[in-house]
Amino acid sequence: MNRRRSFNGGRLLVGLAIAVFALISYFGSKEYNPIIEEDQYIGITPDQEIALGLQAVPEMTAQFGGLHPDVEAQGFLDSVCRRLISNSDAGQADWPYECSLLVDDETVNAFALPGGQVFLTAGLYNRLQSEGQLAGVLAHEIGHAVARHSAQQIARQQLTQGLTGAVVIASYDPQNPNSAATGQMAAVVGQLLTMRYSREHELQADRLGVRFMGEAGYDPRSLIDVMNILAEAGGASPPEFFSTHPNPENRIEAIEEAIQVEYPNGVPDGLIQ
Ligand SMILES: [Zn+2]
Repeated sequence: MNRRRSFNGGRLLVGLAIAVFALISYFGSKEYNPIIEEDQYIGITPDQEIALGLQAVPEMTAQFGGLHPDVEAQGFLDSVCRRLISNSDAGQADWPYECSLLVDDETVNAFALPGGQVFLTAGLYNRLQSEGQLAGVLAHEIGHAVARHSAQQIARQQLTQGLTGAVVIASYDPQNPNSAATGQMAAVVGQLLTMRYSREHELQADRLGVRFMGEAGYDPRSLIDVMNILAEAGGASPPEFFSTHPNPENRIEAIEEAIQVEYPNGVPDGLIQ
């Protein structure tokens, strides 16, 4: 009996050591991001981040039918992408930005890989009605890259895995197989945490999108049009863009707030819509 108790105590200590290590690694990775003027927890270097993104490009493009053969559409995408980057604070970050159109015309989505690789499906591209709306989608995705959301996500996953592992080890009792359930609970809670962060990141990408659009001469209200287009595209099965995003009403409200902050006296005339 005594021997078993000391065995469990050992597990508890190992679990605690793993938890402490995970916490120290996470909070020790604090970095200041000058463009968004915010401290961030990031576990990888910019070079690693770029390499990760480039590594994922072939798989990502293949998943959506490959790069789109329409040279004209891709050229237009490039010009809007360049305009956003060279005329806004996004250009201060040293990412090798690239915006690519993908063949898939059924999926309505856009995403950013780590390190500045931005993608847009033909399904979303075909639904857009103006240059400003395209700029809105791209500015949002460029916002993810500038704010290093993928790298932050990776750091949080490492922390979550570390803490989950610690709880699993500390709570597992070999004499009582049911104790594994406690560890599973910890894993679920960990996932929920990650999801909440991800929603925050979406709202931050919207705010950065508004800022970069304005700096590059685009009317940020076009991003609200994009939200409405996405909502309409929803129907029975909502576009994937929403599956990981906060609900559209909240999002439109947050974008309106961001526009208010950026333009307290109202959006000036003459911006590209
Ligand atoms: Zn997003």
